[in-house]
Amino acid sequence: MDDDFLTISPPIYMVGMKIGCWKCGERMPVVALLAPTVEDAVDQVCVLSDVVALPEDVLSYVQKRVPTFQFRYSKTVQGKYYANICPSCGMLSGDFFLHSEPGAPFFPTCEEEAGLLYLAEIPMQRPVRIRAGFHMGTGELILNHAKRIA
Ligand SMILES: [Zn+2]
Repeated sequence: MDDDFLTISPPIYMVGMKIGCWKCGERMPVVALLAPTVEDAVDQVCVLSDVVALPEDVLSYVQKRVPTFQFRYSKTVQGKYYANICPSCGMLSGDFFLHSEPGAPFFPTCEEEAGLLYLAEIPMQRPVRIRAGFHMGTGELILNHAKRIA
């Protein structure tokens, strides 16, 4: 996990879909942040993971739509971060599971998989600083093929 603060210029997007909870099988929403303009990652669309700190307005935008995106302790990373919680059973679906394997929700490998995600722009007027890790390579696929919603 990269603990550094990222400096991100607008736009910044919320991406998400519904998956089956690994624990109870109920449908649950999962979300992540997508940032095309991250300082130090020139011309790379970054997918953020393991978010440890983010501005209040970004957080409230996401939590208003997906209240189960919560700051929780994860045994896997032995620390707290903004993770996706199942509304039915309360278990956490970790970012490692959601981001790291090809074909995972935030690691689409083709247009069809990227098209399962929705994409919503978070209204931002200024650069923000977010403490998180990130990965590149799939962000552009998501940006180009996810379903854009208002
Ligand atoms: Zn569950």
